[in-house]
Amino acid sequence: MTEDEVIATFKRQHALSRVEAAPDAKARRRALTTLEKLLLDNGEVIATAISEDFRGRARAETEMLEIVPTARGIRHARRKVARWMRPERRSVDLALHPARAWVRYEPVGVVGIISPWNYPLFLALGPLCNALAAGNRAMIKPSELTPAFSELLKRLIAEHFAPEQVAVVTGGVETAQIFSGLAFDHLLFTGSTNVGRQVMQAAAKNLTPVTLELGGKSPAIVAPGYPIDKAARSIALGKFANAGQTCIAPDYALAPAGSVEDLAKAVLARAKKSYPGIADNEQYTSIVSDRHRQRLVSALDEAAAAGATVKSHEPQGDNSPKIAPTVVIGAPADGVLMSEEIFGPILPIVPYETLDEAIAFVTARDRPLALYLFSDDRAEQEKVLSGAISGGVTLNGTLLHAAQDSLPFGGIGPSGVGAYHGLEGFRRFSHVRGVHKVGFINMFERVGPPWGWLSSAMGR
Ligand code: NAD
Repeated sequence: MTEDEVIATFKRQHALSRVEAAPDAKARRRALTTLEKLLLDNGEVIATAISEDFRGRARAETEMLEIVPTARGIRHARRKVARWMRPERRSVDLALHPARAWVRYEPVGVVGIISPWNYPLFLALGPLCNALAAGNRAMIKPSELTPAFSELLKRLIAEHFAPEQVAVVTGGVETAQIFSGLAFDHLLFTGSTNVGRQVMQAAAKNLTPVTLELGGKSPAIVAPGYPIDKAARSIALGKFANAGQTCIAPDYALAPAGSVEDLAKAVLARAKKSYPGIADNEQYTSIVSDRHRQRLVSALDEAAAAGATVKSHEPQGDNSPKIAPTVVIGAPADGVLMSEEIFGPILPIVPYETLDEAIAFVTARDRPLALYLFSDDRAEQEKVLSGAISGGVTLNGTLLHAAQDSLPFGGIGPSGVGAYHGLEGFRRFSHVRGVHKVGFINMFERVGPPWGWLSSAMGR
């Protein structure tokens, strides 16, 4: 799409959103059913396109981590949307009686969605599902790093939706900048924290409210006494799925000092069991580009040069697009691995002496997108939950809070602004409109002006 076409599509959606009545529950369910059909009829081509973009993405991962959760989110919204839309009665202040008060959830109008490459389907259609449930029109700008998928998405959306309802705009950073400068009624961005800042600035010019789904370093804390093998199984699952290119992957682990070696061994053993070989293993995803792979290799070299212990599941192949699962003990605090989001299958393990020290380690850093705690002790769970704030939490597991449609999903501080999914997603893209209806008599009219007697009656 040329710049003029992007602007024309936006203007058309915007104009219609101002004159057409909000779609009723039936129309919203119809739109959600269309979205589900798009997904379920095209699973195979979607998985093929994403695999092409990734230079090898495990099909099972596209199925389990993208298609299934997106379809579940759509079904959840379709089941609940009529209830979510229902006006809610609110109490009437005594001084304003007789009257009625309620809120209505209105569509905001046109929602812009900017999505990243790492889960190109889930992070484009998940927000779209919420935007449609809230009765909006939407435009999506997928990532230029997944060109095959982005073109496919554009075609599939055009085959299933009128461009006045949903449209896809493909292109690189320049297109993304034009896109984020459009006067959307809400703009949801998923991507890196730095670009999120630029998107918020662009949106500010139009007073467009934003939801920013960003990244960061999500810790996994293994509490003293928790079975190491059990923790390792979940940490390995969350870290090595999609080769660690997951915004809520456990970025690093905090383990009791005496258990660091055991945890490292158990995580690698689990990786070996899940992915017996790496190079030709179709179930193990590649790093999306040479540039991203090189960043990870350099980070490992830097840690090794600083004296850290780097252990990989198998030697890293020079010409492979993959990086074998790796654990690092003693990564320097000021090195890339401990100061930047890793976004790859590399797990630094940091020792701690007391749980308080582990909490202090987390709170000394930016508030993370996710936090994982492995502990069966209620007091410990409460201590960590109240002591270290994060976007979301899974206790005794990884990733799962993002798959729970009844929970909000979002970050806090540098890991994000606002949350979506399920009810929160519906509300995020709705205008909550207060309505006050005067009863048989308007006392406010009766008492003034002039107001003098009222203020003396109120003792002022
Ligand atoms: P990115 O920020 O580089 O790009 C994301 C999108 O922004 C792309 O579509 C890109 O075209 C667009 N973009 C680039 N420059 C822009 C600009 N100046 N103005 C407007 N849009 C612009 O992110 P990425 O590399 O695709 O994704 C990885 C990052 O995303 C990681 O930091 C990860 O943690 C984060 N992420 C967060 C979540 C979440 O739900 N919180 C989910 C997945 C990924």
